[in-house]
Amino acid sequence: MNRDRLTVVIAAFNEVESLPLLQPRIVAVLDALALEQGIDGQILYVDDGSTDETWPLMQRLAADDPRVAALRLSRNFGKELALTAGLDRVEEGAALILDADGQDAPELIPQFVAKWREGYDDVHGTRLEREGEGWLKRATAHAFYRVIGRLSKTPIPADTGDFRLLSPRALAGLRQLRERHRFMKGLFGWVGYNRAAIPYHRDPRAAGRSKFNLWRLWNLALEGITSFSTVPLRLATYLGLLTAAIAFVYGVVIILKALVWGDRVAGWPTMMSVILFLGGVQLIALGLIGEYLGRLYEESKQRPLYLVDTWLPARGVCSGQD
Ligand code: UDP
Ligand code: MG
Repeated sequence: MNRDRLTVVIAAFNEVESLPLLQPRIVAVLDALALEQGIDGQILYVDDGSTDETWPLMQRLAADDPRVAALRLSRNFGKELALTAGLDRVEEGAALILDADGQDAPELIPQFVAKWREGYDDVHGTRLEREGEGWLKRATAHAFYRVIGRLSKTPIPADTGDFRLLSPRALAGLRQLRERHRFMKGLFGWVGYNRAAIPYHRDPRAAGRSKFNLWRLWNLALEGITSFSTVPLRLATYLGLLTAAIAFVYGVVIILKALVWGDRVAGWPTMMSVILFLGGVQLIALGLIGEYLGRLYEESKQRPLYLVDTWLPARGVCSGQD
């Protein structure tokens, strides 16, 4: 019988407390899948340059279990690149992306697999609620998904994280996207194919702290918008046109006033506010162009996406026999 292969890819940055809790849960799920559905399961951990004991722990996990592969990057590249590095090393079959902190329950994996078997290529978990996250994070996340949904031409499903199963062909498609600024949610959307959503309750973090504070999230949002939309540039054009139109009308008013009532030197407050307003608008537009230009610059350097420190490949699969 031709057995399917499934690799669970996990990016981890300083997750020494979470991984030991997660590992047995995944193994249990993969064992069940192997027995019941004839799927060969593997786990691939990516250490995103952790500064704690995460890497020794991964080495131990890989040494103890032939189904576990571990990859260490040369430094912290961020979650998006760590995931890319992991996905690049999935040799065959489908890949499933999971957070290291247990917020995406491994027990849901069979549901993802079922959809995959139905013929879907991109099965993604859609969060019904976010426990253990403050109102500010929830509100900003909500607003972000609405904004990017409107701005981007590529479909980006709302409230969808990286918890996702990619079929072999979706994975192959994703691998062809080698841009440096990687907004994964958008890249998945770009790939397309048959997509299915699985609603799930997102659990609070099992241990440790979130690596994404508001500032990092804000930068991620900027990344997403500039990578997947040029609408802000167009908005700048319209803003410019609008201010030019207003300036023209106002100019006519001033000239008429001077002609009718004579040109008394007055209007210092108006002059100042007009100058400041125009200066502000110009700086905003310049900054906006700079955001895009900076990304173009990064892209043009053609650096590799990440560097690998150590690669410990898996030595076997979860076939359910052990
Ligand atoms: N992560 C990573 N590199 C980083 C930051 C985070 O690989 O630079 C991993 C982290 O270990 C976790 C996942 O990305 O597995 C999600 O991070 P986190 O739980 O902190 O984010 P949140 O769930 O709060 O959005
Ligand atoms: Mg988390």
